Amino acid sequence: RESLEIEEILQTTVKEVQKLLEADRVVMFQVWADGSGTVVQEAVLPGWPVVLGQDILDPCFQEQGYVEQYRLGRVAAIVDVEQADIKDCYGEFLQSLGVKANLVVPIMVRENLWGLLIAHQCATPRQWNSFELDLLQQIANQIGIALAQAKLLEQETRHTQELARSNAELEQFAYVASHDLQEPLRMVTSYLQLLERKYKHQLDANAEQFITYAVDGARRMQSLINDLLDYSRVTSRGQPIVEVDFNMIFERAIANLKFTIEESSAIITHDLLPIVMADPTQLTQVLQNLIGNAIKFRGESPLKIHLGAVKAEQTQEQLPIPHSPLPTPPNEWLFSVSDNGIGIESQYAERIFVIFQRLHGRSKYPGTGIGLAICKKIIERHGGRIWVESKPGQGSTFYFTIPEKVGKQS
Ligand code: ADP
Repeated sequence: RESLEIEEILQTTVKEVQKLLEADRVVMFQVWADGSGTVVQEAVLPGWPVVLGQDILDPCFQEQGYVEQYRLGRVAAIVDVEQADIKDCYGEFLQSLGVKANLVVPIMVRENLWGLLIAHQCATPRQWNSFELDLLQQIANQIGIALAQAKLLEQETRHTQELARSNAELEQFAYVASHDLQEPLRMVTSYLQLLERKYKHQLDANAEQFITYAVDGARRMQSLINDLLDYSRVTSRGQPIVEVDFNMIFERAIANLKFTIEESSAIITHDLLPIVMADPTQLTQVLQNLIGNAIKFRGESPLKIHLGAVKAEQTQEQLPIPHSPLPTPPNEWLFSVSDNGIGIESQYAERIFVIFQRLHGRSKYPGTGIGLAICKKIIERHGGRIWVESKPGQGSTFYFTIPEKVGKQS
């Protein structure tokens, strides 16, 4: 039951049952929809005919309705094939395999007959006792459960593969679309700009304004395309995941935001920062986006930003992991970027991580709404999660986890 390697389970079962019952042969016979079947596993003592792999299309088996009976839970024990009250054709069939006595139990997968677990005695007739019958039946039940689980796993694996394939396709689509849109757009922008420069004084005020709008629209489209390209490259252009000092990540993010930080007079503090497994460039991008947002969406009071880092394992109990979709498993670092800015209404807590979703007009807060979507994709590439905890007017805390050791490589 602990293994999902179904072949191995079936093989071990016939081997062990053969030893346990001291039978001459134990087989697993898989029954097909038309009533025929195949011997898919066999453990047989030397000297007796090997039937493994044999397809058995026995008209007798089909005609006498045995399949239906097994489906209804029939268990059959024959003490002596030569003396047994069985159809001639069945007796002949068993004798052709050298069988003197047998024990047969159905293997059901949910309500369907999957096959039969069969013990053969070839040397002599054999009186089977109730313990042996019970044992075989219980084993057949366990096999049924294992087969059902393996089927589920197979479906899930197929589903996951399908999802991965369609994700890759979507990424490819986003890349091609954004990449190929750039060229014609560049043309639109440059001809519009040429028009603006060359005919500036020959056009009336309205025309000039229209051109300005058009240039502005084209520029915005350019930046959306660039964002889409960045987004599609998170997985395809990711660098290897390596050991990296979070202090270095923090310093880089701060350096990249130097002017914005100075201009906003933000006070940024942080906990002791650990070493994690990450793609340094991408992790810097996450931190930079989160700190950049904390600055952009600041409120009236002097801006304070804190970068927290706790090892989830050590503080599991005391940790207030707010609204995390999953309990934080051990061996992760939980980082937080908190601010005392404008905050977010809880109903938007998930939406803001969706590509191009934002809660404000461009005039008040510039941006395209890609930042958090990229953060989410990066964190997920590392096998972590990201979420926000916030109340309007009371600041926001963005949380993200990074596994301590091995990150998910893609
Ligand atoms: P952008 O900053 O370009 O709008 P993001 O994806 O980074 O794109 O953010 C999406 C939206 O989430 C923002 O438009 C804003 O409404 C909200 N948001 C992000 N960070 C914060 C924050 N620290 N405080 C308040 N709102 C935020």
